[in-house]
Amino acid sequence: MRTAVVVGAGMAGLATAGGLSRAGWRVTLLERGERVSAAPTALVLWPNGRRALDALDPDGGWAAIAAPLPDGGVRRPDGQWLVVPRSRQNGNANGGPSPAVVHLEDLYDALVAGLGDRVEIRTGTAVTAVRIGRGHRPAVGDGRTWFSADLLVAADGIDSAVRRGLAPEAAAVGSGFAAWQAVIPGYRAPRLPDELAAGGETLGAGYRFVSIPLGARTAGRGGIYWVATAAGAPRPEPPATQLALLRRWFASWHEPVGALLDATRPEDLLPQEVRELRPLPRSYGFRSGPGGVVLLGDAAHAMPHHLGQGACLAFEDAATLRSLVAAVEPGPELCAAIDAYGRARRPRTTSVVRQTRRMSAVVQARGRLALRARDAALNQLRPRLLGRASGTAADWTPPA
Ligand SMILES: Cc1cc2nc3c(=O)[nH]c(=O)nc-3n(C[C@H](O)[C@H](O)[C@H](O)COP(=O)(O)OP(=O)(O)OC[C@H]3O[C@@H](n4cnc5c(N)ncnc54)[C@H](O)[C@@H]3O)c2cc1C
Repeated sequence: MRTAVVVGAGMAGLATAGGLSRAGWRVTLLERGERVSAAPTALVLWPNGRRALDALDPDGGWAAIAAPLPDGGVRRPDGQWLVVPRSRQNGNANGGPSPAVVHLEDLYDALVAGLGDRVEIRTGTAVTAVRIGRGHRPAVGDGRTWFSADLLVAADGIDSAVRRGLAPEAAAVGSGFAAWQAVIPGYRAPRLPDELAAGGETLGAGYRFVSIPLGARTAGRGGIYWVATAAGAPRPEPPATQLALLRRWFASWHEPVGALLDATRPEDLLPQEVRELRPLPRSYGFRSGPGGVVLLGDAAHAMPHHLGQGACLAFEDAATLRSLVAAVEPGPELCAAIDAYGRARRPRTTSVVRQTRRMSAVVQARGRLALRARDAALNQLRPRLLGRASGTAADWTPPA
């Protein structure tokens, strides 16, 4: 039987392990954590990410856990519109799915359910080494045991130990931003007037605040998700102090920013340094014996979150890999599929990384002139950069 080892049980690893096992592969999933668990935040699924999940598992029940993403527009901190919201149609111009928002814990539950009982999960296994060579199958080791398989998938995130061994040129570096995320659960979320309930985005000088209602659904967790971004280094203080700082930084911003920060508790807060890979790995596929290794998700192309595309691209990676290896056997066919994976994914992800970097400059804009230029340009930039349904980042369809 064809065998795969997937390293990392984040969104990328779970989606890939489920996809491969449904295609008849025997999969072992290695996770360094003691359990598979999601951070208590949320995620935007753009049409490309939704299509990829549907391709990976048409019976995944994704629609039941996802709430439609309202277009809340873009404002300045004083509340003035930079981009007026447009009502989103049900579906996009191409007849595909609309953007949606999902609580991360719901998404993980669905991905774990999709593993069925065919995937062997080994938690508490931190991979430290990788071995490839012409004459043998690829293998990873945790210092005690080597795990070898026909196909090895590195889905171990931005600090990937597997990538370090195969593509040391790609370094994880700070992007010059810190981010804070939180979900205010439904029962203590502030009641917002209709004109604010759709959430939206606000751009200040070096600061950005985005809020999205998670909706009240029968399946899935409700509440309000927000993410704040500030140019600069991450803060070293404990969460309660960081929350107090956020309330001060955003004190003069239009509502509902203040109301949302007031309703947030320190234990809701997830502070993070925003990091990215620079440069991207030269290749995403490495042959070894009858198969090889592929890099996938943040292990291959971690980028800042400004376009909200990291996980969506990871699902694209997983869907592409699954379609390429679904019907192939270890040997020349599998080696060719590994090469094809790199050829399909590297240009695509490089292009989204490039768009994300342009968006970094927009978020980072400071100074009167820079801000004026940004505000004037935003109406043209936003549809192009922010991946509206017809935007390039979200415009992807799974391979047949
Ligand atoms: C503020 C913010 C907002 C974002 N918003 C969005 C959004 O709206 N939409 C979107 O698509 N993306 C978004 N992203 C990006 C998205 O969160 C990431 O792209 C995604 O989490 C990457 O998933 P992954 O599985 O590749 O990596 P990770 O989530 O990092 O998972 C890696 C897994 O591998 C395990 N692991 C690591 N090292 C080892 C090892 N040596 N051995 C074994 N296991 C290991 C880890 O424990 C973890 O479980 C956002 C990111 C940020 C920071």
